[in-house]
Amino acid sequence: MSASARSTGHDVVVLGGGVAGCVLAARLSEDPGRSVCLVEAGPDHGPRWREWPPTLLDAHALPRDHLWERRTAVHRFRARVLGGSSCVNGCWNTWGSTADHDEWVRAGGERWSAAALEPYRRRAVEQMRLQPVPEHELSAWSGAALESARELGFPRVDMGAPGGPGYGTPLLNALDGTRWNAAFAYLGEARSRPNLTVLGGTAAERLIVRGGRITAAEVVTDGRRNTLTAGTFVVACGTFGSAALLLRSGLGPADELRALGIRPEADLPGVGANLTDQPGLFVPLAPTDALNAALAAKEREGNLYVSRMLIRAAGEGCPEGSWNLHILPSAGDPLFGSLPPGTYEAGISAFLMKPVSRGRVRLRSADPAEAPDIDPGFLSDPGGRDAAALRSGLEIVERLAAAAPLRNLAGPVPGSPSRESSDAELQARLGTYWHPVGTCAMGRPEDPLAVTDGEGRVRGLANLRVVDASVLPTVPASNTQLPVLAAAEMLADAVKD
Ligand SMILES: Cc1cc2nc3c(=O)[nH]c(=O)nc-3n(C[C@H](O)[C@H](O)[C@H](O)COP(=O)(O)OP(=O)(O)OC[C@H]3O[C@@H](n4cnc5c(N)ncnc54)[C@H](O)[C@@H]3O)c2cc1C
Repeated sequence: MSASARSTGHDVVVLGGGVAGCVLAARLSEDPGRSVCLVEAGPDHGPRWREWPPTLLDAHALPRDHLWERRTAVHRFRARVLGGSSCVNGCWNTWGSTADHDEWVRAGGERWSAAALEPYRRRAVEQMRLQPVPEHELSAWSGAALESARELGFPRVDMGAPGGPGYGTPLLNALDGTRWNAAFAYLGEARSRPNLTVLGGTAAERLIVRGGRITAAEVVTDGRRNTLTAGTFVVACGTFGSAALLLRSGLGPADELRALGIRPEADLPGVGANLTDQPGLFVPLAPTDALNAALAAKEREGNLYVSRMLIRAAGEGCPEGSWNLHILPSAGDPLFGSLPPGTYEAGISAFLMKPVSRGRVRLRSADPAEAPDIDPGFLSDPGGRDAAALRSGLEIVERLAAAAPLRNLAGPVPGSPSRESSDAELQARLGTYWHPVGTCAMGRPEDPLAVTDGEGRVRGLANLRVVDASVLPTVPASNTQLPVLAAAEMLADAVKD
C-alpha cells in the first residue's frame, strides 16, 4: 500500500457491488495490507443469507423487485442490490466458444485467450458453487426436449466448459431451489475482514477528475452526499451503469457531453457505444392435458423449473465448428403474468448469441437520478444478418417441436413467429436473453472506440479501471454471468499487479 493511498482513504474503491464488484472486493481484500471499499447503490441484506428477501432466494422464478426501474421495457431490467444481477437472474451458467476468445484476444491481448481464462473459469465455478442440474429438476418437458435434441442428431456437450455445438443442461447458481448469488459466494467470509468496507445503499453519482487522475468519487447515502478517496478506483456498475457513471463524470464523447452541460474531461467516443445484447423469439406451443398434469405434479413437489436444457446450434452466418444460437425449450408459469391454476405455458425460444447489430447507452441529462436511455439496437444491422440468423433459429425450433418426444406433449399455435414472419413481425415479438455487454469496450490503442485496455484501465486516466460486463467488446456465445465472473477473477489479479 502506498503512503499516498493511505493518507487519502482506501487503497481501492470499487463502485458497483454486482457480480464483478463482489469478485473484486473479495479478491483484492485477500491481502490484509490493502484496504478496499465496495460501494453498492442497492441494499446490502447482510451476512446471513436466510434473512434475505424470499423473492431473491427463490430460484424457481425471476423476481420483479430490486430493479433499477420496475415499469420499463424488459431489456432495461438490471438489479439494484448487493450481488447485482446474480440476485435476480435465471441461475443459468454456460461457457462460450473459442471464436469469442479470439475476438477478445484481438482487443485485449493474450490474457483473454481460452487457455489463459480457463483457471479463472474453474475458480469461479468453484467459488460460486455452480451445480449440474439435478435429475429431479427435469420436468417432462425438459426430459422430452433432451430426447428430441438427440433424435435431431445433436451431440451431448458440457455447457459449463469449453466445447462445441450440441445439447445439454447448464450449470446452476442455485442450491436446492435457493438462488446462490455472488454476494453469498464471494463476500460470505470476506465481509469479516477489517480491511474490507461494504457500503450498501450508496450510489456513485460521479467521479472527480483532476490532471488525468480520479481524485474522488461523489456518493450519496440516504440523501447525504459524501466523497470517497482512494489510490485506485474500479468502476463495476454493469453495462448500463458503468457507461452512465463515466458519462456523468465527463468521460465520453465530448460533443455529446457538452450538449448535456457536462464538461468533457476526456474525449472517449466509445463510452456508451457498442451496446450488444442477445435478442430472442419465443415460439409458443399448446400443452396437452398430459403435459399440464405432469407440470402440475412437478409444481406440487416444489420442483417445477421453467427451463433446464438448451441446444447450442449453428444458424445462418455461423463460422464452422461454432454456434450462434441457443435453442431453449421452456414450460411452466409464464415469465410475466399468470395462467389459471393447473395450466402452463410451453414453447421453445431461439436466442441470437452473436449479433452484429449494436445499440447505445446515452444520458438523458446530467442528473444522476434520471435513468439513461438504453437502445439495444436489436436487428438494426443494415445487411439483415441478424434477422436471417434468427430465422434460421426458428427453423430449428420447428424441427425440434416436430420431433416425437416434444410433439407428443404440445402442438403448434397458429400465428406464432416462424421463418416466414416479416421483419416487422419479428421485431414486434423480440425479447432479450438479458446479456448486455460492450459499452466500455476494451480495444487496442489504435482503436478510436476503445474505452479500456485488456487490463481494464480507462484510456488516458492514471488510476481508473472498469471491470464488469461492459468491457467485453463482443458478447460471448453463452450466458454472461460465468464469463463475467471469470473475467473479474482475472482482472482482479491485474489490479493487484
Ligand atoms: C433478469 C436477468 C436475468 C439474467 N439471467 C442470467 C442467467 O440466467 N445466466 C447468466 O449467465 N446471466 C444472466 N443475466 C446476466 C448476468 O446477471 C449479468 O451478465 C451479470 O450480472 C453482469 O455482471 P456485472 O457485474 O457486469 O453487473 P451487475 O451484476 O448488474 O452489477 C452491477 C451493480 O452495480 C450497481 N450499480 C450500478 N450503478 C451504480 C452506481 N451509480 N453506484 C453504485 N452502484 C451502482 C448495481 O446496483 C449492481 O448491483 C441476467 C440478467 C438479468 C437482468
